[in-house]
Amino acid sequence: MRLKYSGRINEFTRLANMNIGLEKIIRNAEKVSVHGGHSGQFCQHAQDDLESIIQAYIEQGFTWVGITEHIPPISDKMRYPDEAEAGLSAEFMQQRFVEYFRLGRDLQNKYANQIEILLAFEIETYSGAKDYVHGLIKQFQPDYLVGSLHHVNGIGIDYNKEHYQLALAQSGSMVQLYCDYFDSQFAMLQEFCPAVVAHFDLIRAFDPAYLSTLSDPVVIEKVDRNLNFIAENKLILDFNLRGFDKGLEQYPSLPILKKAMAKEIALLPGDDSHSIKSVGRNYEAGLAVLANLGASLEWQKPAQLKY
Ligand SMILES: [Zn+2]
Ligand SMILES: [Zn+2]
Repeated sequence: MRLKYSGRINEFTRLANMNIGLEKIIRNAEKVSVHGGHSGQFCQHAQDDLESIIQAYIEQGFTWVGITEHIPPISDKMRYPDEAEAGLSAEFMQQRFVEYFRLGRDLQNKYANQIEILLAFEIETYSGAKDYVHGLIKQFQPDYLVGSLHHVNGIGIDYNKEHYQLALAQSGSMVQLYCDYFDSQFAMLQEFCPAVVAHFDLIRAFDPAYLSTLSDPVVIEKVDRNLNFIAENKLILDFNLRGFDKGLEQYPSLPILKKAMAKEIALLPGDDSHSIKSVGRNYEAGLAVLANLGASLEWQKPAQLKY
């Protein structure tokens, strides 16, 4: 009885010590973001100006951060509904993107002794985007690319539930929608080899049964293929903290996260901030997930493009 009792105390002490250890590990980890800094200045669905957002990163003690604004749409047809409603033409947004780069480079220099800013952008994947994105890379020479898909068969998948349903109807079934997404992602990976792969399984955004869809053998095969490409090319997976906002988990979801770890893929926090108040949000919760899984909290910086 006595022995059993002390055994339990030891177990509690061990767990308590482990938690203190975990907290310390999280607190001591360098604060970084590979995907963030969307601002109301340059993005219709974000708030606040870019400089204030950078100042927020500095205040929170981030050592380096990738500012990764969305590229402008290729045409009016590819605008998001909020952009169309606000009367923003694709041409206007393309001009504004010039200003994004000009200001981004200025701020990179201005705050160089307080924070390392990497100036990047988040690419889009849809029909016709390939040459357009290559043109933007040539024109702006970003420090790196964030490889994203927000469309499947030309239909937005994370804008709202209605659009998601349209994309689902177009693909014909949930499994096929995931397959279309991961095939398109694979083509994007091969074409651009982006240093950071954003929200890997964003396709689950409006699928409440995503764990079951992700466990379909056909989907698993495509996920594995894409992760193998990421591993072979030493790309970084955006451990996207925005996923926690919906009361869910990060992107990529746990089963994919575990596979990525087994393949020794670097996982880095991306706060995907879209305002001052979303800078660094869910950071501790995210790091706790990584630390609990035994993932490294020593961050690999995205490989910078050479020109
Ligand atoms: Zn955004
Ligand atoms: Zn995104």
